[in-house]
Amino acid sequence: MYKIMTPGPTQVRENVRMARSLACTNPDLDPEFYDYYRDTCSLISELLETENPAYILDGEGILGLEAACASLTEPGDRVLVVDNGVYGRGFADFVKIYGGEPVFYEAPYTRAIDVKAFRAYLKEHHDFKYAAMVHCDTPSGVLNPVEEMGRALHEYGILSIVDSVSAMFGEPLHVDAGQLDIVCGGSQKALSAPPGLTFVTVSPAAMKAMEGRKTPIASFYANILVFRDYYKDQWFPYTMPISDICGLRTALENVKADPGRFERHRKLGELCRKRILDMGLSLYLENGFSNTVTVVRVPDGITAADILEAMKREHGIMIAGSFDVLAGQVIRIGHMGENANEKDVCETLDALADVLKKLA
Ligand SMILES: *Cc1c(COP(=O)(O)O)cnc(C)c1O
Repeated sequence: MYKIMTPGPTQVRENVRMARSLACTNPDLDPEFYDYYRDTCSLISELLETENPAYILDGEGILGLEAACASLTEPGDRVLVVDNGVYGRGFADFVKIYGGEPVFYEAPYTRAIDVKAFRAYLKEHHDFKYAAMVHCDTPSGVLNPVEEMGRALHEYGILSIVDSVSAMFGEPLHVDAGQLDIVCGGSQKALSAPPGLTFVTVSPAAMKAMEGRKTPIASFYANILVFRDYYKDQWFPYTMPISDICGLRTALENVKADPGRFERHRKLGELCRKRILDMGLSLYLENGFSNTVTVVRVPDGITAADILEAMKREHGIMIAGSFDVLAGQVIRIGHMGENANEKDVCETLDALADVLKKLA
C-alpha cells in the first residue's frame, strides 16, 4: 500500500472506513434514513455557511458538475465559462451537451482570476443565464476568488455554478456571503471520504430557474430538481448508497470537530511551497496558490513519469502528475484533508528531494 499524497483521492481516516461497514437498512423505505440523509445534508450546508439546502448525489464529483449544468441549461442559453484552468474550460462540454452556448472568459492558467478585470468584462458583457467557475482548479492548483466573482455576477442577475470539489473544507468558502447559487463538492478531496459521492448546495434562485424552464431537464440521473421534495414525499429518485453516506457523515463530523483546519492547510501549503523553492524547483503558478495542492514544474532533463515512479518504488509515496494541457509538465502534491499533516508532508518532500538527487 502506498502513502497517498495525491490531490484526491486523499487518505481516509479509520473512523470513516468503520462507518462504511455499519449494518444497513433499506434506505428507500426506512423513515429514519430520510432523517439521516437530511441531517447529513444540513451539516454540509452548515459547514459551507449557507442557508441553501444541500443534496447528496450518488456519483463522483463530475456528476455534481454535470447535474448543475444539466439542470440549469436550456437549448440556446448563453453561459459564461470562466477559463483559467482545465476544469474551468471543461464546463463548456457540459453546457454544449445540454444545448447551451458557452462563451469563454479566458485568463492565464498561471494566475488567479483578477476580480477587477472580471468586473470590467461583466460591465460590457452580461447577457448570460449563468456562469460556471472553479474554486481550486486542481491540475494547476490555482485558487480563484469565487466569492467576489459570485457577488459581481449576482449584481447582473447571472446565476453561478462553482466547482469547489478540491478546495472546500481545506480553503474557506462562505457560500451565502459569495451569493453562490450552485456549489459542487466531492467526497474524496479535502473531506477525505473515499471516492463515490458528490453534493450540491442550491439557492432559491437556482431552484426557481429549474422550475421555470420551458423545456424539461434532459436527464434523470443528473437532474437536481427530482431531489427537491425527497423529504416531504419520503421518496428518492434512486436508491441511496447508504454505506457511502454513513462514511461521508463521519468525514463531515471529523471536519466539524477540527476548527483549526484552515490554519493547518495554510501553514502546510506555505511550508510545501517554501521547501519546493529551497530545493531549486519552480512552482507552476505565479499567484493564487491553493493550500490544498502544490503544483511543481518538472525540471529539465527528467520526466514526470520518472519522478512519480521513483517516489513509489523508493519511498512508497504516491504523488500525481497532471493532465490535459498540463500533462507531463508538472507534478502535484496533495496536502488536503487527512493528507494535511506535517509528518506526511515533510516525508513526501524529503522523498522528493532524494528522488531528484538520484535522477539528476
Ligand atoms: C477531482 C475534481 C473533480 C471531480 O473529478 P472526479 O474525476 O469525479 O474525481 C471536479 N473538479 C475538480 C476541480 C476536481 O479537482
